[in-house]
Amino acid sequence: MPLPPARIKESPEDFVVEEIPAYSPSGSGEHVFVRFTKRDHTTLDAVRAIARALACDPRAAGFAGMKDKRAVATQTLSLQAPRGTAPADLAVRALRLAIDGMVIAGDAAGLCLAAGLWLEGVNFAIGSGLAAGRAVARAVAAGDTSARALASYRRDLESGFVLADHKRLRRAPRLVLSDRVQQRYPGLICDIAEGLFTVSNPEPKPGLLRLARRSARRNGIRLGGLLRDGLAGARVFR
Ligand SMILES: Cc1cc2nc3c(=O)[nH]c(=O)nc-3n(C[C@H](O)[C@H](O)[C@H](O)COP(=O)(O)OP(=O)(O)OC[C@H]3O[C@@H](n4cnc5c(N)ncnc54)[C@H](O)[C@@H]3O)c2cc1C
Repeated sequence: MPLPPARIKESPEDFVVEEIPAYSPSGSGEHVFVRFTKRDHTTLDAVRAIARALACDPRAAGFAGMKDKRAVATQTLSLQAPRGTAPADLAVRALRLAIDGMVIAGDAAGLCLAAGLWLEGVNFAIGSGLAAGRAVARAVAAGDTSARALASYRRDLESGFVLADHKRLRRAPRLVLSDRVQQRYPGLICDIAEGLFTVSNPEPKPGLLRLARRSARRNGIRLGGLLRDGLAGARVFR
């Protein structure tokens, strides 16, 4: 019996693939992860274009593997911050905020930070939505809605609270989700409270300092680490 005629991969949309990252970003270090979706481009072309657009060295870029050119492929790329550029600044630079005929606001632009119960996104969504509306109104009035004409949107976000807060708070998820903040510090507080309110007659109650030392040992907390986390928390949430 003759085989029925078939056509495969006629258009890039016929093959949609999403790479699942092997691990999450740690929140520190010199590299910034960029999640991108490419259509009808080789992985190498896309990596080089993104690295160059962000003034990074394409040779220092890391990615998991090649995806088909004729496809819509979502991948993750790690870029090394160029000398003299803080990774936080590179991360903000990498946020895609305007393209020809479109501005991107709120969660869609990556303006959201999530750490369990602690979520920050509504303020960013409202702030960026307002700025996006202003930029679009200006562009439409001028009869030019190109990415260049819409660039005032990014400037607006840079001069307001949105990008400043996003940059400052980006370390928060790592701190808030750490084993110390989730388990050890609450354990320390509970242990101390239990020690304070437990009647230990006829033994005298241990003093607060002794209780704190004992609880810190039990929960694997060192003074240096506690001070470092306190300082990091003060910097992030100041
Ligand atoms: C469980 C949870 C708790 C949160 N708690 C907090 C908090 O306490 N504080 C805080 O600041 N932030 C919090 N956030 C984050 C906050 O909700 C988001 O950052 C914020 O809502 C983003 O607003 P947005 O307008 O960018 O996107 P969204 O609120 O997601 O709005 C996007 C809208 O577009 C619609 N849409 C999608 N696709 C299409 C389409 N193709 N056509 C038409 N419409 C479409 C969606 O239905 C949706 O209504 C929380 C988020 C979650 C999920």
